[in-house]
Amino acid sequence: MRILLVEDDPSLAAGIRLALKPEHYAVDLLADGRQAVAALKGDEPFDAVILDLGLPGLDGMQVLEAVRRRGNRVPVLVLTARDGIDDRIAGLDAGADDYLIKPFQVDELKARLRALLRRSQGQASHVLEARGIRLDPATHSVCCREAPVALSRREFALLQEFLSHPGRVFTRDTLTRLVYGWDEEVESNAIEVHVHHLRRKLFPELIRTVRGIGYVMDKPPS
Ligand code: CA
Repeated sequence: MRILLVEDDPSLAAGIRLALKPEHYAVDLLADGRQAVAALKGDEPFDAVILDLGLPGLDGMQVLEAVRRRGNRVPVLVLTARDGIDDRIAGLDAGADDYLIKPFQVDELKARLRALLRRSQGQASHVLEARGIRLDPATHSVCCREAPVALSRREFALLQEFLSHPGRVFTRDTLTRLVYGWDEEVESNAIEVHVHHLRRKLFPELIRTVRGIGYVMDKPPS
């Protein structure tokens, strides 16, 4: 899962990134409202946005309005120090999916984010299950046909993307962005290597290569 964090307070941003790191999310940080609108305009894949309201450039509410006006439905969790009910109503009208009032506990942020991602993917439970695989984002555990499987952080993140979107063909580039975000040096064959490991640790036919494009986890036969 790839998260865009838009927060101009460097220490809070660092704290949130640190808290989300063990969750296997790729977290990209921007500190300016205009940059956030630009990032959400292109074809950058993000699974969710954590958006501060008080930002330089454009404030969070303007960012949200601009993003929703273009029809982008990415789930947005708003962070705000202003706890006035008027702000909350305005935020929900502008298309925020959830709210967190500063200061907050990072555990609450993590739980809200998991709920947001789950809702956006239409899942009743946070556990992802398909093709005999069971992945629990809350405990970072994976089982294949009831047997626990140890995965690296990147393998886990990649598997989570496939299980969240059965039948979707991902390009290698999209998967690289989803798993690594912007600011990491990535070997050009990193995704191929992770897919190879997932096939070996789980089972070979789980992830199908789509020649010239990328990879897909086929929907389970109905
Ligand atoms: Ca701020």
